[in-house]
Amino acid sequence: MVHVVIVGAYGSAGAAVANSLAEEPDVQLTLIDDGEPGGGLCILRGCMPSKEVLSAGAHRFQARHDDRLRGDPPEVDLERAIERKDDHTLGWARHRRESIHDIAERPDAEFVHDTARFVDDHTVVAGGREITGDYVVIATGSAVDVPDLPGIEDVPHRTSADLLDATELPDSAVVMGLGYVGLEMVPYLSEVGGTDVTVVEHDERPIDEADPAFGDTILDCYRETFDVTIPTESYEKRVEPTDDGGVRLFLERADGDDEIVEADELYLFTGRRPCVGRLGLKNSPLEPGPGWVLDTMQARDDDRVFVVGDVNGKEPILHVAKEQGFAAAENILAHSRGEPLTPYENVHHHVIFSGLGVYPYARVGHSAESAEAADIDHVAVTREASDDGVFKTKDVPEGRASLVVGTDGTVLGYQGLHYHADVMAKTLQVVVELGLDVRALPDRAFHPTTPEILDGLFRAAAEQVDE
Ligand SMILES: Cc1cc2nc3c(=O)[nH]c(=O)nc-3n(C[C@H](O)[C@H](O)[C@H](O)COP(=O)(O)OP(=O)(O)OC[C@H]3O[C@@H](n4cnc5c(N)ncnc54)[C@H](O)[C@@H]3O)c2cc1C
Repeated sequence: MVHVVIVGAYGSAGAAVANSLAEEPDVQLTLIDDGEPGGGLCILRGCMPSKEVLSAGAHRFQARHDDRLRGDPPEVDLERAIERKDDHTLGWARHRRESIHDIAERPDAEFVHDTARFVDDHTVVAGGREITGDYVVIATGSAVDVPDLPGIEDVPHRTSADLLDATELPDSAVVMGLGYVGLEMVPYLSEVGGTDVTVVEHDERPIDEADPAFGDTILDCYRETFDVTIPTESYEKRVEPTDDGGVRLFLERADGDDEIVEADELYLFTGRRPCVGRLGLKNSPLEPGPGWVLDTMQARDDDRVFVVGDVNGKEPILHVAKEQGFAAAENILAHSRGEPLTPYENVHHHVIFSGLGVYPYARVGHSAESAEAADIDHVAVTREASDDGVFKTKDVPEGRASLVVGTDGTVLGYQGLHYHADVMAKTLQVVVELGLDVRALPDRAFHPTTPEILDGLFRAAAEQVDE
């Protein structure tokens, strides 16, 4: 019998490990989580609630931008929006908890509702007792990375979790961070709250993973369509409270000029850091930091500890957390049998629900820049959404898409920043992961539907490959 202790079993990564091992006859499971109510970040304060409130903003945005509609744009009833979001998320969270409790009902399985803390290499304390496993899985997720900015302790700051519960929004806000959480939440503040938003961007443009034209398109869209102020190549120097209860943020720009932004509220969309603080890792050989988790999901410092999901700091996104959980379960079984372990690898697949989800950004596989960096012979083709009449007929004319294809015809990657780009990511995932030849793809979307933008890309790329 192999005893596996999973810390963080209510989360997506921990639940994936638990589900994978639940049917194994020779595995004993101890599932631990201290979540209250419990259900993991994605369900309670991440993917799902954010998309739910964004959708209310999207409906207002589309009504406001359609000059065929008369009358004032409708207001979002925030009390109702948050109540409905809570109703849904609490239901999904209950479902997650029940699935974990069901596993714990089996012989050789138990659930402990408590914080786990290491007291030895493979021994944790939880529920008032010591629990020793043959293997320990750490799946404890992530927390907001509060920047080490002078003055930050003296001003109230809010996070995405606060915004997802807010039934009142401020007249003005200053935001640190325009990563995927910022790209989702900033238009929500401006559209739903009518909030005057300034968001600080360190680089020339957001979305590091995208070819530059996509980041530039986002900047134009946020500035012009959502009326957001975005100082780029700007760095926060310090922050202080104002006399009227607001905040004053001091910025230094790359050109050497200083700038001061005052606002009612400060929001931190500054990324996430691994949640290891409550684990008592000083009592174990584990030293979190760059490279502390191998591709097999084993901790570098202990081959019987596996670290999955946001906590390993590799790629904090839901589908990766789950896949890492499945990979860890397979590798625990392999390790226990003395068999070789399989590294977890994936094809790049990200969706950012920018532009309130009306203008999402999606990337599957290579961008032109990453293909270049990997020294792959390729062609890259681009199409503007406005080139396809269908986007105009649906009143969503903004955006662009591109396709990267190897000179042998293999489709290597797609990026879209346009209406329905999130949906099209699935089609392109299939094409990229199956290694299909662009010349073999059917060039026949139903007319008029938004995937016509893909047909345009397929045609242009096939012509270039043939040349
Ligand atoms: C605003 C926002 C929007 C997002 N949107 C998306 C999206 O659209 N798509 C997407 O793919 N991803 C999205 N994400 C990311 C996604 O939510 C996370 O990558 C994913 O939920 C991480 O899952 P996890 O299992 O690693 O961690 P979690 O779900 O956080 O699980 C960790 C668990 O560990 C428990 N725990 C922690 N410490 C201990 C301890 N010492 N003892 C016992 N239990 C402990 C916690 O209670 C928790 O249940 C979003 C995130 C945020 C913040």
